[in-house]
Amino acid sequence: MKKSASAKKAAPVEKAAGSKKAAPVERAAPVEKAAASKKAAAGKKAAPVKEAAVAPKKAAAAVKKASAAKTVAPKPPRNESHTALVRRARRINRELAEVFPYAHPELDFENPFQLIVATVLSAQTTDLRVNQTTPSLFAKYPTPEDLAAANPEEVEEILRPTGFFRAKTKSVIGLSKALVENHAGEVPGRLEDLVKLPGVGRKTAFVVLGNAFGRPGITVDTHFQRLVKRWQWTEESEPDKIEAAVAALFPKSDWTDLSHHVIWHGRRICHARKPACGACPIAPLCPAYGEGETDPDKAAKLLKYEKGGFPGQRLNPPQAYLDAGGKAAPPLGAAG
Ligand code: SF4
Repeated sequence: MKKSASAKKAAPVEKAAGSKKAAPVERAAPVEKAAASKKAAAGKKAAPVKEAAVAPKKAAAAVKKASAAKTVAPKPPRNESHTALVRRARRINRELAEVFPYAHPELDFENPFQLIVATVLSAQTTDLRVNQTTPSLFAKYPTPEDLAAANPEEVEEILRPTGFFRAKTKSVIGLSKALVENHAGEVPGRLEDLVKLPGVGRKTAFVVLGNAFGRPGITVDTHFQRLVKRWQWTEESEPDKIEAAVAALFPKSDWTDLSHHVIWHGRRICHARKPACGACPIAPLCPAYGEGETDPDKAAKLLKYEKGGFPGQRLNPPQAYLDAGGKAAPPLGAAG
């Protein structure tokens, strides 16, 4: 039985902005600075009252109506106290938990060995691509002993679709040898042991600890880095420092789920190049509102979500992922 995608329930992202049940929420641009810069660019006078895209039912309830003259951001982050930052950060996490109640690691795995290999393979590619590749890898090499003894050229052929396949082959074979030689063929459950394995950094280690061993960890991937910067949770730019700064804002018990919520939001709504601000359920809490598309209809078309999804449903293959307009969209994780 798979522990990730197939065992856990997937969240329908259309809940975030495409739900037909939730009523539209009126609100002003949440951050005056963002609105001001947009006004300046457009040469307009008045702060427009934006009509948000249809928000998820629960998230919509949390998004308060705002008058045209008021911002709905709790406080401009520039003057934000640490206490206010903690409150805002935790509220963002709570809102995202409502939107993505079934957020989970999107790599398929059945045991810690498969998860650590899949996570190493996920560098510079999408989880979807990895999930299309690992079944044949694990069918041929089900254990660390099998992969440690594998012919590299044969492994390279299997891993070719994931990109950087020679380096990844070297990593997973080296990783498997280290597991066999130093850990009796088992994936260790301690951070200090995991980061000594070839090709395993803190990010991979925390993915494994959080999802295969149930030990709290913050996964600072490219989405996490981008979003916490937009939310002004920290000014740090190095992953280790970001991890420490964000860890200080949340109780340890929240760390693993927080990582999933942030990464899911980054993959589906707050994209690297075109964040869907006009369809974003946490816009009132975001200092970067306006960095992306604010028109609700246009923003809704930027969303990536599972077609006709319902809690517990995971759709695969890639054509199951459609954009808000019903047209084929790139697989999750392909943008940003
Ligand atoms: S989509 Fe826009 S409003 Fe939402 S979190 Fe990203 S930058 Fe902020």
